[in-house]
Amino acid sequence: MPLKTWPKPFTYFKDVRVFLISVSIVTAVFLAVIFTFRDVSVNGLLRESIKQQAESYANLIVITRHWNARYGGVYVEKKEGVDSNPYLKELGVNPDITTTDGRVFTLRNPAIMTREISELTKENKGVQFHMISVRYLNPENAPDAFERKALEEFERGVQEVWQIDRTGSAPLYRYVMPLLVEKSCLACHARQGYKLGDIRGGISVNVPAEGLDRQIASSRMELISAAVIAIGLLLGILYFMTWKLVVRLDEVQKRLKHVAITDELTGLKNRRYIMEQLDKEYQRAVRSGAPLSLILLDIDHFKQFNDTYGHAVGDTVLKTVAVEMKTSLRTYDLLGRIGGEEFLIASPGSVLDEAAVLAERILEKIRTTAISGSQKIAVTVSAGVTSLGDQDAKADTLMARADTALYMAKQAGRDRVIVL
Ligand code: GH3
Ligand code: MG
Ligand code: MG
Repeated sequence: MPLKTWPKPFTYFKDVRVFLISVSIVTAVFLAVIFTFRDVSVNGLLRESIKQQAESYANLIVITRHWNARYGGVYVEKKEGVDSNPYLKELGVNPDITTTDGRVFTLRNPAIMTREISELTKENKGVQFHMISVRYLNPENAPDAFERKALEEFERGVQEVWQIDRTGSAPLYRYVMPLLVEKSCLACHARQGYKLGDIRGGISVNVPAEGLDRQIASSRMELISAAVIAIGLLLGILYFMTWKLVVRLDEVQKRLKHVAITDELTGLKNRRYIMEQLDKEYQRAVRSGAPLSLILLDIDHFKQFNDTYGHAVGDTVLKTVAVEMKTSLRTYDLLGRIGGEEFLIASPGSVLDEAAVLAERILEKIRTTAISGSQKIAVTVSAGVTSLGDQDAKADTLMARADTALYMAKQAGRDRVIVL
């Protein structure tokens, strides 16, 4: 496994960026669609409720007109402010009657009754309605553009027509219901050429719709807030979880990297890492012409320690020797355990003499260090020292020369440094 520079937590976040963006988009779109559907259905319900309100007014007025027509109109006392219906006079009907005691009553037919009730509801609730007619007698019953279109629709069999009119200062819900010619109508309207069942007009109801607009706006506001909170929460949780996961992964990676390059027993760099570093240092030294020295060290008669004191004591010796070597080095010297009781020091910037001095110092330190434990054990180390020269075409030849020097040190009686 090549040991490249390892990603830091937030650079590693890059790898999940596509995932995070995709999930964010899908979540946002999904919730936006749900909330849009809600918005559409809430608006539909609100419109339906205002429509029912208009429809109720229309139905009520139709029934009231039937009631009136059933009696051929009803008489009201002609007190102050009560005038005779001028259209009845035009039709040749005298609307007024005088009782024997001199009180005057005037006829209220469905048309004038409707008009008067409309005035009352307008004052009271702002709701206004009037009759519209294809062939009207009273110009007030003439349909406007919307109402005329509604009458045309009724001819095609449509049962009701509505629209929200925003042309005025306040929005208006406009509703028109067809009015069919019934028997009671013909008494007065037969002369206009109407036949039973004809569509003779409609009832047009106007309901103020500011409330509807307010309700739609506040429901939309609620939905948007809910959508923003829901999306925010979901994405917040997602980002938090991902962030935690990434940090955890980074920790694991760091741990893996450490394990991959570290010798478990001594805590020094392992063979693979130190050999890779040696190659790099070799390349760098060749390029720059700077010196590079190697010290190869091997514990003397180590097998005997194991045989005499046991493997555990052998391990303690290895750890102690590792610490002694480590504390003798400069920061840019590299140290690794390359075999059972064999260590390598690569010292960039050190010439051969400096490396030899360093090796002597290490040997001296180890020689004078008693390994702590139940018994005091004296340990010695042999070292082979060499430096990069023109003849070294690769790091291996340098390594081989250090190995030869170490072999010579062993042959020469151990506990010594041989420089080659
Ligand atoms: P020399 O002076 O010639 O180097 O003799 P030596 O006994 O040190 O060399 P040899 O190669 O014969 O023996 C090395 C021993 O190191 C053999 C092995 O049991 C021991 N060894 C290798 N790795 C470990 C380890 O991790 N722990 C312990 N306790 N012993 C180890
Ligand atoms: Mg040995
Ligand atoms: Mg050995």
